[in-house]
Amino acid sequence: MAMDHVTTLECTICEREYDPDQIIYTCPEHEGVKGILEVKYDYDVIDDNFDADLDGDIQSQWKYEAFLPVDDDAEVVTLNEGGTDLFDAPNLSEELGVETLVKDDGRNPTGCFKDRASSIAVTKAKHAGRDIITCASTGNAAASLSGYAARGGLDCRIFVPGAAPAGKLAQPLVYGADVLAVNGSYDEAYDLSVEVTDEYGWYNRNAAINPFQVEGKRTVGHELAEQSVVRGEVPDWVVFSMGDGCTIAGAWKGFKEFYDLGYVDDYPKMLGVQAEGASAIHDAFQGHEDIDDIADTIADSIAVGRPRNTIKACRAPQESGGDTVLVSDEDILEAEKLLGTTEGIYAEPAGATPVAGVQEALEQGIIERDETVVVVSTGFGLKDTESAKKATGDVNRIEAELSEVEALFGDAQAAAADD
Ligand SMILES: *Cc1c(COP(=O)(O)O)cnc(C)c1O
Ligand SMILES: [Zn+2]
Repeated sequence: MAMDHVTTLECTICEREYDPDQIIYTCPEHEGVKGILEVKYDYDVIDDNFDADLDGDIQSQWKYEAFLPVDDDAEVVTLNEGGTDLFDAPNLSEELGVETLVKDDGRNPTGCFKDRASSIAVTKAKHAGRDIITCASTGNAAASLSGYAARGGLDCRIFVPGAAPAGKLAQPLVYGADVLAVNGSYDEAYDLSVEVTDEYGWYNRNAAINPFQVEGKRTVGHELAEQSVVRGEVPDWVVFSMGDGCTIAGAWKGFKEFYDLGYVDDYPKMLGVQAEGASAIHDAFQGHEDIDDIADTIADSIAVGRPRNTIKACRAPQESGGDTVLVSDEDILEAEKLLGTTEGIYAEPAGATPVAGVQEALEQGIIERDETVVVVSTGFGLKDTESAKKATGDVNRIEAELSEVEALFGDAQAAAADD
């Protein structure tokens, strides 16, 4: 087998095992797409192959290639995703009242975290000789996949809700994808994409059901572990927003692997944040009954009514001793503005949601004031300028006249005299 380090695909429900060299999405023993598969590894092989030189010099996520489920002889399709900075955020920390750092994954090649997964998906599709790749997405996964498909020379056909932000619809067009904007919700676009995959046999990169794509998301956990080693301190909390739940699941799996291998001596508690209007993972984690499947939030990237990865997502707060919270759309927009004004980091609403989550968790006493927190900003703000304007208000529109500036800032000489 060319993937010596990958042992099996195990069903998260019934633990049946499947051959990792075949293309299979979910365990057929369960109805619908619920039998999500988990990739299992031989960590002795990985440990032998990984040069554990954790010096913080991370050019891309492929530093962790020994952990990634691709064949040794596969040609890697990459745009240098990953290796994102972990910033001190002194101004934000002061505003929040707790020591906070920001890992800015909006700086990935297509402007979001999902590039980590798309690189794996396109690498695998290409290696398997498939030439058409597809996914359903609230917007970012589709834009990301389209970029990597272009890079890898594959055709890409994507399904997105018609109401996705304009920036996210334009982006995949530039990358040459066929964009099918479905008249309906993300959940409806998702179901259609699964049906189409069965029918046409395109390679499907959908969140959650493709067992390999989430594996790329582990590298953010590897990076956070490595960056913790360099800083000499593991944060008490790492905070993610949750839609389908693959992101927090992958990040936790990655961090835990480094801990289990002894590369880092502690692990953080994971805090998962959802919007009040799309709260299914939070409800499941908190044991709420009557979980409804509406998805109504301005944070379009986490507007998911029926998350496909609730089981894996809940493991993150469960195993790490963490928690989940909900935040309002108003808080999300305030958080977007706060992150921008305090640190110069421009996130889309779902990328700023963790900041709102920290505020909520502080209020509830989940996070304590003397702890340290890392918020992971998952997406770049320019993808969704309409939402931003709701948070910030509009610009000052003026004529090209000095007097108009004076009307705003007062007389220049008087201002200088005041200084
Ligand atoms: C997809 C996405 C998320 C949520 O990730 P899930 O794996 O669906 O939980 C969060 N933020 C951004 C910017 C995203 O694109
Ligand atoms: Zn099963």
